[in-house]
Amino acid sequence: MRIFLIVAMFASCLQAQEPAPPRYFEPEKALRPEGTVVVLLGTGMPVANPRTSGPATAVVVRDRVFLFDAGPGVVRQLAAAGLPINGVTAAFITHLHSDHTLGYPDLIFTTWVMGRITPLSVYGPPGLKIMTDHLLAAWAEDIEVRVTGFERNPRSGYSVDAHEIEPGVVYDQGGVRVTAFAVRHGSWKRAYGYRIDTPDRSIVISGDTAPSDELVRIAAGCDVLVHEVYPAVRLKPEKRPGGEFWVAYMRSFHTSDEELGAIADKIRPKKLILHHIVRMGGTDEEVLAGVRRGGYTGEAVIGHDLERH
Ligand SMILES: [Zn+2]
Ligand SMILES: [Zn+2]
Repeated sequence: MRIFLIVAMFASCLQAQEPAPPRYFEPEKALRPEGTVVVLLGTGMPVANPRTSGPATAVVVRDRVFLFDAGPGVVRQLAAAGLPINGVTAAFITHLHSDHTLGYPDLIFTTWVMGRITPLSVYGPPGLKIMTDHLLAAWAEDIEVRVTGFERNPRSGYSVDAHEIEPGVVYDQGGVRVTAFAVRHGSWKRAYGYRIDTPDRSIVISGDTAPSDELVRIAAGCDVLVHEVYPAVRLKPEKRPGGEFWVAYMRSFHTSDEELGAIADKIRPKKLILHHIVRMGGTDEEVLAGVRRGGYTGEAVIGHDLERH
């Protein structure tokens, strides 16, 4: 009896410290800013660093959430940021590299299990539809059990409106306009960056890109530029099978800090946020110094997961 009491006390003590997480998103606790806020949900790379989730950026306009990329961890990061986990207003995928899309099934299925009943709107390059169809097929047994079993999840909730888009305005509703533009990302046939214009701010998200003239043109004078980067001085062949191609790969797929400095100097954003950094051992200071060497003198910061800008 005494042991039982001690165990019961210990259990209730644990409960007191760690309340059960809410099953559904609590709207009254939501992040609902007056103006537009950029939330860095994931700033990481393919490397499984527990402190940085995969690429995902939210642009929050009052109670609307626009999501850009769905890297691994995306729904947990939405929860951590105080954003809805039962669906976003619309999601936009820059390209179909796995590190940008591994959270896509999470976005489809977890939002459904957390209460989504309307189709998820997703925009992205050609190939998005077949990826979506394959994901729904892969989880077909899960869907059947959740719909027909005692969970009784509505069948409408896991559906996805997948839009395969061409460059241009792809979303224009309620004062928010999203423009897709083509970027150069090595051997990818299609990779996009996005410009988001809201009533009070303009934001450009580079996606993964080598230096892009189109990005410079579209982003000119924007308020916030969120851009990928790597430190030029750290780039050298790697000692691993295929490592001799590393330099050529990085130059055709990504943008160095010095190149980004020159790009940002032309765009003149009010704020430059660096994310998705292939560090190769480089420090924050090194990367920022490289951006300065490239010619940019405006505000530049290293982005971290869950920061609001
Ligand atoms: Zn990529
Ligand atoms: Zn990437």
